[in-house]
Amino acid sequence: MLWDDFLNSVHRDWRGDGTAKDRLDDEAWFREWIEYERLNPERLPNGKEMASLKKLRELLQRMAEAFAAGAPLSAADLDALNAAMAEGAVIRQVTSDGTSYKLTHVAVGRDWRGIEAIIAASFAETMAEGDPSRIRICDNPNCRWVYHDDTRNRSKRYCDDKLCGNLMKVRRFRARQKAEQDASRSGD
Ligand SMILES: [Zn+2]
Repeated sequence: MLWDDFLNSVHRDWRGDGTAKDRLDDEAWFREWIEYERLNPERLPNGKEMASLKKLRELLQRMAEAFAAGAPLSAADLDALNAAMAEGAVIRQVTSDGTSYKLTHVAVGRDWRGIEAIIAASFAETMAEGDPSRIRICDNPNCRWVYHDDTRNRSKRYCDDKLCGNLMKVRRFRARQKAEQDASRSGD
């Protein structure tokens, strides 16, 4: 989905201390991202357009976090999402990978306001036509990756069980070991 890759453009050092790196500021990443999403802008965003993109990302992040927490969205955020969608004309397009069809949004213009409108529309589509109660934020506090939980019992806690899931298991094990050592030491 367009919106979750956009949110995950804030990349955190999930194995370490969680230091965040903004990939929107990394031109090589940014070029790859617009190419992959077929956003096809007329040019790279200027400072003002980049600031506006980051503001949209903050809005979607806040809404994703509300869904992940099962909390209601604020009316102001809903208004802001509608305002972002109103900034550009969007047409719907069906694409096929040979076996299934996917409905996507394409901007009519190639300016950044139009592209913001498509990103906002992709989130609105998940909200209205998908299952936003499955939006999750990774339980590793240093990761915070946004993902969609498609397990049957909605039990997925980490972006990736082999990565963050294992890391947190190791941390819990070490914490328990340390607590036991401390307890046996104080018992001496
Ligand atoms: Zn994670």
